[in-house]
Amino acid sequence: MIPRKETRQIRVGDVAVGGGAPVSVQSMTTTKTADVEGTLAQVYALRGAGADIVRITCNDVEAAQALAEIVPRSPVPIVADIHFQYKLALAAMEAGVHGLRLNPGNIRNEEHIKTVAREAKDRGLPIRVGVNAGSLDKDLLEKYGGPVPEALVESALKEIRYLEEVDFTDIKISVKHSQVPSMVAAYRLLSEKVDYPLHLGVTEAGPPPGGIIKSVAGIGTLLMEGIGDTIRFSLTADPIEEAKAARQLLEYLGLRERTSLDLIACPSCGRAEVDVIEVATQAQKALEAEGLPIQVAVMGCVVNGPGEAREADIGIAAGRGRGHLFIKGQVVRVVPEQEMVEALLDEARKLAAEGVEARLAAADVGAAAIAQETRKQLVEIQGDANRTAERRARVAQIAE
Ligand code: SF4
Repeated sequence: MIPRKETRQIRVGDVAVGGGAPVSVQSMTTTKTADVEGTLAQVYALRGAGADIVRITCNDVEAAQALAEIVPRSPVPIVADIHFQYKLALAAMEAGVHGLRLNPGNIRNEEHIKTVAREAKDRGLPIRVGVNAGSLDKDLLEKYGGPVPEALVESALKEIRYLEEVDFTDIKISVKHSQVPSMVAAYRLLSEKVDYPLHLGVTEAGPPPGGIIKSVAGIGTLLMEGIGDTIRFSLTADPIEEAKAARQLLEYLGLRERTSLDLIACPSCGRAEVDVIEVATQAQKALEAEGLPIQVAVMGCVVNGPGEAREADIGIAAGRGRGHLFIKGQVVRVVPEQEMVEALLDEARKLAAEGVEARLAAADVGAAAIAQETRKQLVEIQGDANRTAERRARVAQIAE
């Protein structure tokens, strides 16, 4: 487990953020907020895709009114996104939201900010100070000559001072930049200066796959350093995709429990006995529909497959027209190649229901021996890519 930087804990509805709480996933709806049913449908879909908290824009009176209907029916805490008009922040709180996001670049009047903070304090609601490189205060842009990390951090600290002056500390902070190195530098700097929980994101990351790569590079780097308490991938795509990707990142880093399929597959090579891309695609489609939280491996050959993927819960490796089904690296069944995906699916279901020990005990007698024989034959035909015999001889020579 990656050690996390200690931060204060705040609560967004029933979700704890910071202070050792699991790193949470946030996303944002793209519907018109006034469309209550459409927005709620997206909130439910986002929850299904892994979002713990959902942000909804509150950009006019109709949006604030709609929030009064959306929030009580939402399955996750709702944060109102506020730009320019502080009165909409007051209205959103009256509508029952679980938190606010304020952009210091867009609400600059100190008294307005303090009025919102006093109201949030009375209601026990948190505020995210959401600095964005694209909408930084003009004074700071002039002072620093551009949206450099120091400018982003100064903007956040200035806003936090206003909040602290009215004794408001239920704060989380983001300093988002669209350039990954600047984003990483800004959060590192901020993390040295405050112990408030941090909301990580690469802003305007763009469409996938580039947007996902940027988000993983920026957010992943910081999470590996223990920085970050809640994350959002800002993709130019269906928000379901961003919630899914963010959740997957946390699961791959071991920061959240696996809740969905983790399909690993070899990249294929000259030894492949099957079209790995085709089999992996078919397997992914079939297994994703089952929603099993297991790690599954699709390997192109039985020579190296079961060994290389021995950490996977279950896997399949091809060889001489057959599929070799293995659990934790141990071959348990051998099936005709055309039945590989079906057999994998069947065994995955049983594994999820019965557990590893039970399925290993139910292994077909002789399956491991067949796999061993196939492996031997393939090594004879193709040669031993690992040069095991040669290496053993050299090791023996050195040891003598
Ligand atoms: S498992 Fe086999 S086919 Fe896949 S990369 Fe390794 S050696 Fe090549």
